[in-house]
Amino acid sequence: MAQKHKVLIMRCDGYDSDRIAGIVKDGMAELGVVPSGRILLKPNVVLAHPQFFPHAFTRAEFLDGVLAAIKSRAEAPEEIAVGERSGITVPTRFNFKNAGYPEIIARHRVKAYYFDESRQVAVKLKNPHALRDSVYIPRPVARSDFLINLPKFKAHPWCRLTLSLKNFIGLQDDRHRLVDHNQFLEHKIADLQEVVPSKFIAIDGIIAGQKMMLTPTPFSLGAIVMGTNSCAVDTVGCHMVNLNPHDLTHLRYASQRGYGPLTMEQIDVSGDYPLEAVQEHTCNFKFCVERIDDYFSSSRRLNCTVGKFPEAHATEYCQGGCPGALQEAMHIFRGFNPDVDQQMRKLRYVVGQVDQPLDLDENERVIFAGDCTRWQGKIDEKTVHIKGGYKTVSEVNIKKTASNDMLLKTVSALVHALKKKSSRYLHARGCPVSVAQHVNYIAAVANIKNPIFDRRLLFPVILAYGQMRFFRFLNRFMP
Ligand code: SF4
Repeated sequence: MAQKHKVLIMRCDGYDSDRIAGIVKDGMAELGVVPSGRILLKPNVVLAHPQFFPHAFTRAEFLDGVLAAIKSRAEAPEEIAVGERSGITVPTRFNFKNAGYPEIIARHRVKAYYFDESRQVAVKLKNPHALRDSVYIPRPVARSDFLINLPKFKAHPWCRLTLSLKNFIGLQDDRHRLVDHNQFLEHKIADLQEVVPSKFIAIDGIIAGQKMMLTPTPFSLGAIVMGTNSCAVDTVGCHMVNLNPHDLTHLRYASQRGYGPLTMEQIDVSGDYPLEAVQEHTCNFKFCVERIDDYFSSSRRLNCTVGKFPEAHATEYCQGGCPGALQEAMHIFRGFNPDVDQQMRKLRYVVGQVDQPLDLDENERVIFAGDCTRWQGKIDEKTVHIKGGYKTVSEVNIKKTASNDMLLKTVSALVHALKKKSSRYLHARGCPVSVAQHVNYIAAVANIKNPIFDRRLLFPVILAYGQMRFFRFLNRFMP
């Protein structure tokens, strides 16, 4: 009989670095983990800000504790580094600073890799079920010998839950991250598992996140989950919040591709926090996998019309792209202005192929979102034809992807919205239209304050952006 994968669930009710170090060190010893060579730690720092995004990222105290444990367990390490690419095109430097990482990284004398500044290399995929035959990853990931995965335990509006498998989306830079970040998101996550295996996983589940991934509501889970196989760890993670692992689609795909188990019969769960006790504690843990037309149905200012989607495996909804980005964008607005739902101008959001009239209210403006969106009808007695422009997987060439540079995208969205200022509608293009683009378009069309221009964010982000561009340029010449 094949040996079972071991997963540990340990109690930890606070962010005390020394305690975390002790728990992780003991966990590594029990799992037989001995890091060596080029050791790369990959936390989840999708977005970080102590005031606006306090629960979206792997906490600095957690990183601190794990680094201490690794240094005491490692044998002949060549390099220890922390690397990540944050989300929504915000420079990773900005988020590391807000997460409190630079002090920890300096104190432990380890290296930081901002993947948005690194050179990207193509890696061939051989799995017969892979969506693509190659993907791009940052060079520090390709060169690593021992990848340590440090996810944050969070619900996710696109995928239900983000644990260790989903954390790999943060390996890719902006140019490649949004490729297949649509109806194929779950396939893309499974593809990335072939690039590099996680040799040790420690999930920050001390304070978990519910509902959203950028603006989650906190849930005191009080747990650290550890293991050496991502599928095994994520399967246990699903059970911890009473979710059937089969419903975590990327986990199912990863398991089908042979990367690890999906059933508890193949996993040996131990630790000092019994799974049944965790399940009882999380019986009210909240997810958010509602369709946007249901989710915003009570809003008097935002009305969503959802049509049909292009790919045969999911014609009813696009779970990995624009709709989820709209939800995240609206939560960002609410974080900056709790009254935004009452203050915004009436907005119709149209996504997918829609075949019925829109029946717009007077003064209601329209955002047609995404390349798959098509509609023909009359607005203000004039014929409007939204033609779409969706490309299939084989039509998207990953060697010729467009830049998703933060400044470029922001300026292009704002100029586009300005040009359409006197029009009742605009078509925001992209597949997906990113969260940041949603924020820019909604702010302009619904006439609300754009959080990107909040002075508490604007200057630090611009500074980090300038540094990012400079070091990205320098790294092009590094051997
Ligand atoms: S355009 Fe948006 S909604 Fe349409 S398939 Fe692409 S990501 Fe999904």
